Amino acid sequence: MIAYLERCIHENDSESRPNDDEKDQLPNICHSLDLQGTIDCVATGLASKDFGGMYTCNPLALIRPASPDDVARVVKAAYRSPNLTVAARGNGHSINGQAMSDRGLVMDMRSTGGNLFEVVRINGETFVDVSGGALWEDVLKQCVLEYKLAPRSWTDYLGLTVGGTLSNAGVSGQAYRFGPQTSNVAELDVVTGKGEVMTCNKNENSELFFGALGGLGQFGIITRARVLVQSAPDMVRWIRVVYTEFEDFTRDAEWLVTRPEGESFDYIEGFVFVNSIDDPANGWPSVPLDPDQGFDPSRIPRTSGSVLYCLEVALHYQKTDHPSTVDKAVNSLLGQLGFNEDVKFQVDVSYVGFLLRVKHAEESARANGIWDAPHPWLNMLVSKRDIADFDRVVFKRMLKEGVGGPMLVYPLLRSKWDSRTSVALPAEGEIFYLVALLRFTMPYPKGPSTEKLVSQNKEIVQFCVKEGFDFKLYLPHYQSEEEWKRHFGNQWSRFVKRKDSFDPMAILAPGQKIFKRISQS
Ligand code: FAD
Repeated sequence: MIAYLERCIHENDSESRPNDDEKDQLPNICHSLDLQGTIDCVATGLASKDFGGMYTCNPLALIRPASPDDVARVVKAAYRSPNLTVAARGNGHSINGQAMSDRGLVMDMRSTGGNLFEVVRINGETFVDVSGGALWEDVLKQCVLEYKLAPRSWTDYLGLTVGGTLSNAGVSGQAYRFGPQTSNVAELDVVTGKGEVMTCNKNENSELFFGALGGLGQFGIITRARVLVQSAPDMVRWIRVVYTEFEDFTRDAEWLVTRPEGESFDYIEGFVFVNSIDDPANGWPSVPLDPDQGFDPSRIPRTSGSVLYCLEVALHYQKTDHPSTVDKAVNSLLGQLGFNEDVKFQVDVSYVGFLLRVKHAEESARANGIWDAPHPWLNMLVSKRDIADFDRVVFKRMLKEGVGGPMLVYPLLRSKWDSRTSVALPAEGEIFYLVALLRFTMPYPKGPSTEKLVSQNKEIVQFCVKEGFDFKLYLPHYQSEEEWKRHFGNQWSRFVKRKDSFDPMAILAPGQKIFKRISQS
C-alpha cells in the first residue's frame, strides 16, 4: 500500500499546535517517504496519550509502519529535516509521556507486531526472533501453544511490547534467577537515529546492542529481538504467605533468591498490604488467590503494625508430575520460611494462565473505570542497605493507607544484570529491591486528586535523597539535564557518547526529555 496523507492540520487544537513552518515541512516529507504503511495526520489521538494519563501532546502525525524499512525511511526523513523528532510508541504504557513526540512523528510499532516469529537454534540454545512491536502476550501464546517454549524472564503484565520493555529492563519474579528481560536477549535489529538499519549483539556493534538495552529509546528503534527461550512448564503452583515483620519477610525473600538453581521457587516477588479488613484494594482481601479463600483475622497478632507483607512465589511443574512430588517440593521450601503460621494461600493454574494473571485484573479495572483514570506510578530500585529504613518511613508511615493498588517490594541480584547495558542501578551491594507503587484510584473527585498523589511520590523521592539512600528510579522521569546526570552517575559520559554515535541530532524518543533536538537549517 502506498502511503497516504490525510489532512495535516489539526483543526481543534490547543496552544501547542504545530506552527506554520512545521505544517509546511510535513506534506513534503510525508509524500517523499513512499511507505508501505500509513501516515495519519488527523486521528493522532492514540499518540497524544499514555497509560499514566497525566501528559498529552500534539504530534504532527501518527505513522503505522509496515516493516523495518518503513521505520528507517521515517527516521531518515526526520534526520534530514530541520527539526523533526520521532517517538517509537510500543503500547503507550509509559506513565510520564516517554513515548510521545510533541510536534513530531509518532510511530505505532504495534503495526509491525505480527510481522515476525521464528524459532532459531544456535549452538544448543533456542531463541525466538520477534518484532520490536510485538506484545509479550502474543509472544507467550505463540511460543507456548505452538512450540511449548517460553522466554525465561517476564514482566508481570504482558500487554507491553518487546521494544518498550527492552528499552527499560523488563522485571518480574523470574528476574532474580535469569536477570531482567534485557539479560535474556542475544541480538537486536535497530534503526539508529540516522536511519541506518543495524544488526547488533555482544560481538557485533556491541555498543549499540548494550546501549539500546535499557536505553530509553535513545539510540535506536528496536525492530527485531532474538529472545532466549526454554521449554515451558504446563502448570504453576502459585502461593502467597504473610509476614507481620519486615525483617522476617526480607530474610526469607533474600534466602530464596540466593539459593542455587533448582533449590528455590521459579518466581519470587512480594508486596506490602494494609493491615485492614476493610480495604478491598490494599487490605487483607487483596491477598487470597481465590474468592473461596478467606483471610482469617485471628491469625494476625493484634500488636502488628500498620502494614503487613506478602511473599508471593510460584513453582513450575508438568501435568505428568505426581501431585505428591509437587507438594513435597513446595512444602520442603515453605517449611524453611518463617511466615505467620497458617496464613498461606495457594492455587494451581496453567502456566499461561499464571503469566496472564494481570490481564484478569485489567478486565475488572476497565469495568470499574480505574484502568483509564490517571496512574501516577512510582517505580524505584532501592539498595538492600536502605530498604529497612525505607519500610519504616515510607511503607509504615507515608503509605499506611495504601495506594489503591499493589505496592510491590522484592529483592533482585545485581550479578544478573549486565553492567554494559544502559540501565542505571543502585551503587552498592549484590541485593537491591524493586519497589513499585502501582496507584489505581477513581478519577477526582471520587478519588484523591492526581496532584496530591504526584506530590506524595515527590515526597517519597525527596525523603530518599535527604536520607542519602542508595536508589535509582526505574522507568525514570526527569525534567532537567542535571537530574539525568545524577540518575546515570558515572555512566552519564558513556550515555552521551552513545547518543553522539547513534542519534547525533537527538531525533529519537524526545518524550524522555534527556536530550534536545539539534536544529539544522
Ligand atoms: P511505551 O510506553 O510505548 O514506550 C516506552 C519507551 O520506549 C518510550 O521512550 C518509547 O519511545 C520507547 N520505545 C517503545 N518501543 C520501542 C522500540 N521498539 N524501540 C526503541 N524504543 C522503543 N515493567 C516491568 O519491568 N515489569 C512489570 O511487571 C511491568 N508491569 C507493568 C504493568 C502495567 C499495567 C504497566 C502500565 C506498565 C508496566 N511496566 C512493567 C512498565 C513497562 O515496562 C514500561 O512502561 C514500558 O515502557 C511499557 O512498554 P510499552 O510497550 O507500552 O512502551
